[in-house]
Amino acid sequence: MRPLSAKLSAIAPSATIEITEKARRMQAAGTDVISLSIGEPDFPTPAHITKACIDALNRGETHYTAGKGIPELLSAISDKIVQENRIPCTPEQVIVGCGAKNSIYEACEAVLSPGDEAIILDPSWVSYEPFVQIAGGIPVHHPMHPETFQLDDTLVEKVNEKTRMIIINTPSNPSGVILNNDSLRLVADICQDHDLIVISDEIYEKLTYGKIHVSIGSFPGMEDRTVTVNGFSKAYAMTGWRLGYAVASKEIIAYMNKVQQHTISHPTTFAMYGGVAALKGPQECVEEMRYEFERRRSFVLKSMDEMGLSYAPADGAFYAYVKVGGDDAKVAAHWLEKGHVAVTHGSAFHHPGWIRISYAASMDRLEEAMNRISAVL
Ligand code: PMP
Ligand code: GLU
Repeated sequence: MRPLSAKLSAIAPSATIEITEKARRMQAAGTDVISLSIGEPDFPTPAHITKACIDALNRGETHYTAGKGIPELLSAISDKIVQENRIPCTPEQVIVGCGAKNSIYEACEAVLSPGDEAIILDPSWVSYEPFVQIAGGIPVHHPMHPETFQLDDTLVEKVNEKTRMIIINTPSNPSGVILNNDSLRLVADICQDHDLIVISDEIYEKLTYGKIHVSIGSFPGMEDRTVTVNGFSKAYAMTGWRLGYAVASKEIIAYMNKVQQHTISHPTTFAMYGGVAALKGPQECVEEMRYEFERRRSFVLKSMDEMGLSYAPADGAFYAYVKVGGDDAKVAAHWLEKGHVAVTHGSAFHHPGWIRISYAASMDRLEEAMNRISAVL
């Protein structure tokens, strides 16, 4: 038989998903593995959100619907983006996808022509490089500052006539770092000077610990150059709903919609009613979960201090990003095999020598996990 797709043969599987599936297999075989390898809130989706979805099902909202998303959700998102993110937006500038993942991928397809370069900032979430590659683009990696994880003038050295896009993620997965105003300003200036588009992945926007999240799309001159991506998975504990969205110029949204029409048609109809309830309903649930993440964060960082491990500034998201040095994949494998704690190695984020610990797990499990890590160190 002839080989399958050459394009896909060059693309790595998702490390976060593969490691977590391995942990699940070990659990199914009877090993008490603590899985801190995936970024997934352990809380149930708030009841008013699930109720809105069940009501939609009972009303018969089980058919095809508007391709970019139901009008109620497009309006709810555009209101949120204007009020909270200070980005000018109308419902025509919104597209709802099957998770932020789907929206970022569609944005890459919409912007990149074959051979176009997209700058990715390392450490970078596992799926950015594959999105660019599947869209026919060329990923160009650029390291964040090794201690502050911010950006400096060296970024512009990665720009050439083939560069079309920069992908930023704040708060960051895996580092937890929030990009400061200087870093955002630098990206905005480079995009304007070199006619580039920025994809700004803001999925962890609600999970911050003392620092303020700012959207690059709110900077003057950036409205038409920014694809702002967000979703429901992290803020509302809705990972399995597969619901996210992008906000951009009408032209970019129209191109993303071509990909959407020919691939997924639209996200699941009744799930989108849950999305409306999430945005329009009470927001206390978001703060309750954030508060609990902050408590766990303090505990995990204190444990790292006690173990003598240093970590990236943990400003947001729910990850402790820890320096282990040496062969990070080997360290993670050791923690899993000997300590039965699953974590993700930094190389999966193009950043060797580090380990990502997700603290989206119960306090009991985190306490046990820290004891186990300390024992195998
Ligand atoms: N961006 C980042 C940085 C993430 O960590 C995730 C995690 N799943 C996503 C996007 C995708 O989220 P989802 O597709 O569940 O909305
Ligand atoms: N984004 C989460 C993580 O990094 C979920 C898994 C994934 O989609 O990669 O662990």
